[in-house]
Amino acid sequence: MRDILPPTSNFGQIPDDTLKLVSYCPVCHYHYDPFEAKILEESRGAHLIHVRCSRCNSAIVALIMTNSIGVSSVGLVTDLDGSEIVKFKDYQRISGDEVLEFYEFLQKEDLEKAIQN
Ligand SMILES: [Zn+2]
Repeated sequence: MRDILPPTSNFGQIPDDTLKLVSYCPVCHYHYDPFEAKILEESRGAHLIHVRCSRCNSAIVALIMTNSIGVSSVGLVTDLDGSEIVKFKDYQRISGDEVLEFYEFLQKEDLEKAIQN
């Protein structure tokens, strides 16, 4: 029987926990159904994926990168769905000054009037 992986691939060198992030729910440890994973974007060996746990309904967004060295991933738990991630991924980040400006806006005594108008 022949190996289906090309001889130059490094898949045999992937540590057991490298892809654990996209295999198990980090909240309830339920095994993800691979068909529930949605590829939101892919470019030059990098895949942005979103997976929602069918047991606890939490979700992760992960960036999986493959190159000549191997496979690596980084991800986080999110309450966003896939369409929201696609919508917000290219937005500019909010600066500290903008947060302070908004805080000061909320402190204004005439805020109630501003909202009513
Ligand atoms: Zn879960």
